[in-house]
Amino acid sequence: MNKTVLITGSTSGIGLGIAQQFAKEGYNIMFHGLEANGQAIANDIAKTHHIKVGFSNANLLQPEAIEHLVAKTIDTFGCLHVLVNNAGIQFVSPIEDFPNHKYENIIAINMNAAFYASKAAWKQMKIQQFGRIINVSSVHGLRASEFKSAYVTAKHGVIGMTKVLALEGAEFNITCNAICPGYVKTPLVEGQIKDQAKAHSMTEDEVVEKVMLKKQAVKQFVPIEAIADMAILLAKDSSTTITGTSFALDGGWSAQ
Ligand code: NAD
Repeated sequence: MNKTVLITGSTSGIGLGIAQQFAKEGYNIMFHGLEANGQAIANDIAKTHHIKVGFSNANLLQPEAIEHLVAKTIDTFGCLHVLVNNAGIQFVSPIEDFPNHKYENIIAINMNAAFYASKAAWKQMKIQQFGRIINVSSVHGLRASEFKSAYVTAKHGVIGMTKVLALEGAEFNITCNAICPGYVKTPLVEGQIKDQAKAHSMTEDEVVEKVMLKKQAVKQFVPIEAIADMAILLAKDSSTTITGTSFALDGGWSAQ
């Protein structure tokens, strides 16, 4: 039987890269995201890799929609082996001007959604005596940067949750780990490059070099494939003792 993976935010950026890697490994995939072409993306990957797919555009701001997304996955495939809590948003502002609704949305999508999805998947994973929960946190789950109060709070919170779920899941062969990337060139970051160029009166190239990659020892964006490869490793049967840990894929940022 092919294993099943649900990846939130898998119709863009890092989530899509993770999905492509799981597809190569023969997993059936529940795609998810707000992109208008999400179903088409899922269908293309299904055709190329001869796997079964589903697609949902559940809004992660709503706990009931998240529960429904997990239930739909289990209904569609009859199982759920791997949950990748990947979807996330960003907003950058000094705290005194930080709009409350932006703060609340970042906490809801980047942190609370991982709780609701993991909670909803738990019973099925317990029945299977197999579960792999992979949280896409960030180097900002390990380190802070100014003007990112909401994001850094949410990403640190996810790492705390990861440790708790690892402890609770241990007796059921449910593992939970976090991946903490540095900067990855995705639509989320391309938006930030434009905003920062305006804010600092710099060219976009200068922003990449002088602002974004300043804290990374390796002056390159983290390749999406590296994150996807790590997710595949964490999902393996043999990874049962790898749990409660955060893996920094950050070009040496958090080594400092
Ligand atoms: P992205 O913008 O390319 O993709 C985000 C995905 O989340 C999209 O599919 C989007 O539709 C979905 N999403 C956003 N809001 C949603 C909502 N309310 N309901 C349902 N889906 C929603 O971003 P990305 O760069 O690929 O980021 C993926 C994850 O990686 C995020 O958690 C992000 O914080 C994390 N991350 C990114 C970087 C980076 O440099 N890009 C670095 C570290 C961590």
